[in-house]
Amino acid sequence: MMTIQTSNLGFPRLGRKREWKKAIESYWANKIDAPTLNQQLTDLHKENLLLQKNYNLTSVPVGDFSLYDHILDTSLLFNIIPERFQGRALDNDLLFDIARGNKEHVASALIKWFNTNYHYIVPEWDNVEPKLNDNVLLERFKYAQSINVNAHPVIVGPITFVKLSKGGSQSFEEKVNTLLPLYKEVLQSLVDAGAEYIQIDEPVLVEDDSASFEDITRTAYNYFDEAGLSNHLVIQTYFERVNLKFLNSLPVKGLGLDFVHDNGYNLKQIKDGDLDKNKSLYAGIIDGRNVWAADIEAKKSLIDTLQNATNNLVIQPSSSLLHVPVSLDDETLDESIAEGLSFATEKLDELDALRRLFNDDDSQKFDELKARYDRFQNQSFKNLEYDFDSVRTTRQSPFKVRKKAQDARLNLPDLPTTTIGSFPQSQEVRKFRADWKNNRITDEDYKTFLKNEIARWIKIQEDIGLDVLVHGEFERNDMVEFFGEKLQGFLVTKYGWVQSYGSRAVKPPIIYGDVKWTEPLTVKETLYAQSLTDRPVKGMLTGPVTILNWSFERVDLPRETVQDQIALAINEEVLALEKAGIQIIQVDEPALREGLPLRSEYHEDYLNKAVRSFKLATSSVADETQIHTHMCYSQFGQIIHAIYDLDADVISIETSRSHGDLIKDFEDITYDLGIGLGVYDIHSPRIPTESEITEAINRALQEIDRSLFWVNPDCGLKTRKEDEVREALTVLVNSVDKLRKSTNPATV
Ligand code: GLN
Ligand code: ZN
Repeated sequence: MMTIQTSNLGFPRLGRKREWKKAIESYWANKIDAPTLNQQLTDLHKENLLLQKNYNLTSVPVGDFSLYDHILDTSLLFNIIPERFQGRALDNDLLFDIARGNKEHVASALIKWFNTNYHYIVPEWDNVEPKLNDNVLLERFKYAQSINVNAHPVIVGPITFVKLSKGGSQSFEEKVNTLLPLYKEVLQSLVDAGAEYIQIDEPVLVEDDSASFEDITRTAYNYFDEAGLSNHLVIQTYFERVNLKFLNSLPVKGLGLDFVHDNGYNLKQIKDGDLDKNKSLYAGIIDGRNVWAADIEAKKSLIDTLQNATNNLVIQPSSSLLHVPVSLDDETLDESIAEGLSFATEKLDELDALRRLFNDDDSQKFDELKARYDRFQNQSFKNLEYDFDSVRTTRQSPFKVRKKAQDARLNLPDLPTTTIGSFPQSQEVRKFRADWKNNRITDEDYKTFLKNEIARWIKIQEDIGLDVLVHGEFERNDMVEFFGEKLQGFLVTKYGWVQSYGSRAVKPPIIYGDVKWTEPLTVKETLYAQSLTDRPVKGMLTGPVTILNWSFERVDLPRETVQDQIALAINEEVLALEKAGIQIIQVDEPALREGLPLRSEYHEDYLNKAVRSFKLATSSVADETQIHTHMCYSQFGQIIHAIYDLDADVISIETSRSHGDLIKDFEDITYDLGIGLGVYDIHSPRIPTESEITEAINRALQEIDRSLFWVNPDCGLKTRKEDEVREALTVLVNSVDKLRKSTNPATV
């Protein structure tokens, strides 16, 4: 029996206690200088490399570590510098300015990295002069060698790099061809320095349209072959299946495939014999994106199967571990839960257990992990019974009937105004919460503070003249973590951070068991706010699709089951609010669209399930209770039918930056439910003018029935300053006041 090797694709940059974030932010705040920053980051890089080495990996990745983002690193390496930043010295400050913008120039765009919550900096090709800059990758590789870590360089491949970039007048193919000699030089330098193989990340090869760029992909890898590099290159893919027949035909040493998120298709192609046995198979068998201990027994059989398909099997995580926290060692968790979890280092330990089992006939660690896994699966908190059928999934009456009941009860003016939920999370708000969390102030002090803040903002909203008020969400750190802390079945970790973009990290709650509502989550604050005013106060909840998308989800149950469990919990809260007398309840679903699977063949199923869960959460209320939802993006094209199917009485959406697009999306559907348009951009500190808002409303009223139309900002106002919020909302209300008084010809 041949031996198997183990490897990794990438490691979290953040550090166990977010040292990376702290170092970078200290530098931004001028608390440390550039040499100190570089030293701190080198130390962290070293720690990451040595930490991985502990798990006896055959090879540890270098090139994944970065000062901000690995795509931006690649842009700098090849001198793909946005035009407005060209001509400057190539240093950390330039890198940070491109990423974050500066006084003179806006930052480059940030886009979601495939279907993860990581965001990369989009390369810009306008008037660039590609050339090779400082070969940082080579330096990092040599550094790993200098500390005796057996490493392989990682670089994003030319096809993926170009596909993810924008701008420039050249075609896709021309851009790739421009870069090939530069890539060749870098790859050659790494081979010369002793790299046995180089991991070339080409995740775009898993996308729906990958067939359309197979030719240029072949051109690129033939070019490297002619340069004599093919024996050192591994094309690495992840997050979905590939066309294995095609990849197998490329002249490279090995292929990296994801066997966790491939919907079974990579394995099927392997079984069909689509892989040449002489190609090395870098098999992603441990989930690189989730936090669960692997079903180690199942992984063993997977290895058995894969061994038949290749003469050289390397097992590794399914993707970079960038998407998971570093280590469980720093958490203090109940052992019955901890047994089921696996962060980055624990995942490497799983690979080590498998390696020992296969290569050394040593089953000790394997048996231990298997026992832990089995115990966790049988925990009682994972085996509750649910009666999903007992809860309504359609409202009692159709919208037209409900609207009459709601209009009669709420008696709102023409073009009602409202906001999306949150008001500024000022320094004071954050300080009080931190003090309370760290036991520096009592529960009472904290509650009093929250009450005062709610009262203050109810008054502000009344003075401005808004029609439907909100309590302001001051008690919430985050719209998902807040619910995670209160619902049964969720775990909120201490250090379970993952990078979202730049120095920004999120701490997704972990859904470890069956979800249950045990006590009211938001009723007290909402009722208190309502007690202070005669105007309706909108209850504010996060919906099941968003809670699931922004958590680490269970994988032992079908995704839709977990989503429906959350929906039942939200339904309880909706009913509790209704029972307490709240007349309008908003269930936010900002993550609905971003959760769309990578491959379009799964979209419909995803959307059907999302709609079902939302309706499970919101359909049990009486006709006269008004359900709102909110989504903060504007391109509804693909999902407009699902949005309509949610059957929410009112949806508020972002449109301030792209009215044209929105109207287009709404053209092929009669959207005859309530709709609130975001009439100004809350992401900017700029105060909108009255005529801008009036114009936005008038434009929309040409398409949308006035009786269904609401006026609101784009999204929550938590990141804005109090003055900005007051001023902007005043302008909004003033413009609506005038519209109400004037007779608008477009509406008669
Ligand atoms: N109600 C939330 C808020 O106002 C919605 C946030 C969001 O859409 N992301 O902050
Ligand atoms: Zn929003």
